[in-house]
Amino acid sequence: MTTTAPAPLDISALLADGTHLIGGEWVPARTKSTIDVVNPATGAVLARVPRGTAEDIDDAVRAAEEALPAWRDTSPARRGELLYRWAELVREHDTAINELEAVEVGHPVGPSPIAARLTYLAGKADKILGHTLPTRSPDVLGMTLREPFGVVGAIIPWNAPGPMTVFNTAPAMAAGNTVVLKPAEDAPLTALYLARLALEAGIPPGVLNVVTGYGAEAGAALPSHPGIRKMSFTGSPATGSAVMTACARNLIPLQLELGGKSPQIVLPDADLTKAVPAIVRSIVMNSGQVCAAGSRLLVASSLHDQVVETLAERFRAVRVGLWHQQVDMGPLINARQEKRVLDYLAIGREEGAEVVVGGTKLTEVPYDSGYFVEPTLFDRVRPEMRIAQEEIFGPVLSVLTYEDEEEAVAIANGTRYGLTASIWTQDVSRAVRLARRVEAGQVAVNTVGDGGPTGSIGTPFGGYKNSGFGRSMGPDAVEDWTQVKAVIIDAGS
Ligand code: NAD
Repeated sequence: MTTTAPAPLDISALLADGTHLIGGEWVPARTKSTIDVVNPATGAVLARVPRGTAEDIDDAVRAAEEALPAWRDTSPARRGELLYRWAELVREHDTAINELEAVEVGHPVGPSPIAARLTYLAGKADKILGHTLPTRSPDVLGMTLREPFGVVGAIIPWNAPGPMTVFNTAPAMAAGNTVVLKPAEDAPLTALYLARLALEAGIPPGVLNVVTGYGAEAGAALPSHPGIRKMSFTGSPATGSAVMTACARNLIPLQLELGGKSPQIVLPDADLTKAVPAIVRSIVMNSGQVCAAGSRLLVASSLHDQVVETLAERFRAVRVGLWHQQVDMGPLINARQEKRVLDYLAIGREEGAEVVVGGTKLTEVPYDSGYFVEPTLFDRVRPEMRIAQEEIFGPVLSVLTYEDEEEAVAIANGTRYGLTASIWTQDVSRAVRLARRVEAGQVAVNTVGDGGPTGSIGTPFGGYKNSGFGRSMGPDAVEDWTQVKAVIIDAGS
């Protein structure tokens, strides 16, 4: 592993130090307090962002309320044009966005889906349709209009700030809502930069506001603010439950995404040359800090030894390092996340699972100042073990075996989660049968997720069961941020 210094990324040229975006102005927190944003690979302070509180949230909601009437009444085609312009700027600034996200999250630089997704959402702005309603008289016309909710709020996590910002703001904006976004305290920089580009694209001041700060301070104030009409939240189940409680008190709807324990089901006829590399990538990407990470491998017992051997080789070959190096995986986001992953490694051992590869923290240079944990392969995992039930959010793959299809489905569905799943088989009938029976918001066959660069476009994303409800992206992504108004016109005399 090379230990060259990180390539310089001049964050001060991208963002004004210590400010967030309220009503088109870059302002400090009311209290003037700041939070240090730290590079998780080195511990170096990257930038300072405002430590916003309820007061800043209130300012942002007021700014969004002020911007609402004009944005709501802007023609959908014009809203779409402005979102397209935002997408174009994102494309032009692709390198800076990718590097910013890589350095604050700690993952290697890679291709970003943001501009393409934004383009997709921009195209939906002028395709929001209502219905005409059958009436009892030819003199009466009935119709439905789809109207925005008003000012909406979004709270996002640190693991993918770029995509999360776009998925949780652009659909709402396309529908004519104005937005207050609260990014995670560990990785708020990409969200701020994307908001800067939105402003530069001509999206009016106050349509997108970003308030940085801690969850208990700025975050908690957002869903309980009386001016907020709908929320989206992505993060942990515990915080999601707190946000849902606040929404219930405020009597507002919520779109919720709370992670997963996604199964990778390998059937006896699977093409292993295709499956194994994708399975490893799925758990190593972003150090496993991905809600859709394929963290449980369900392998037919006849294939077990062969699959574990091939996986072990691949796990040993995973290159771990800093974001600018040619690596597969970086550090975990912070000390708390590192402790969480190391605790689960201990729990897995205590439960009787066998560590085939990895299992410890990396401490030598260049890992000594960051939160690096080895990619870890656990074998002989049983479905009831905690490492097979709970979201670890780290580079930890649990291998479980099954005897027949019934058992595979029972294990796949045997957790509280239901976000994504993959099925690896060359038998189309089995693929169809299993895809229908697995409880997950997204089921991939012979691929993962939406299939990547050659996969499906605008794929709905969201969970079954405790993984949450509502979908970001997808054909209904924009409509989900509208409410239906029925209009009945009696034109008779
Ligand atoms: P978290 O749920 O506490 O934080 C997510 C977001 O919620 C952040 O912006 C945070 O500031 C905000 N927040 C925190 N407390 C809040 C409150 N009381 N009210 C409103 N907003 C609040 O998650 P975390 O502590 O960063 O990570 C803990 C675990 O959550 C991880 O280990 C992982 O298992 C899970 N997680 C899941 C996802 C996902 O994509 N589903 C993302 C991040 C973390």
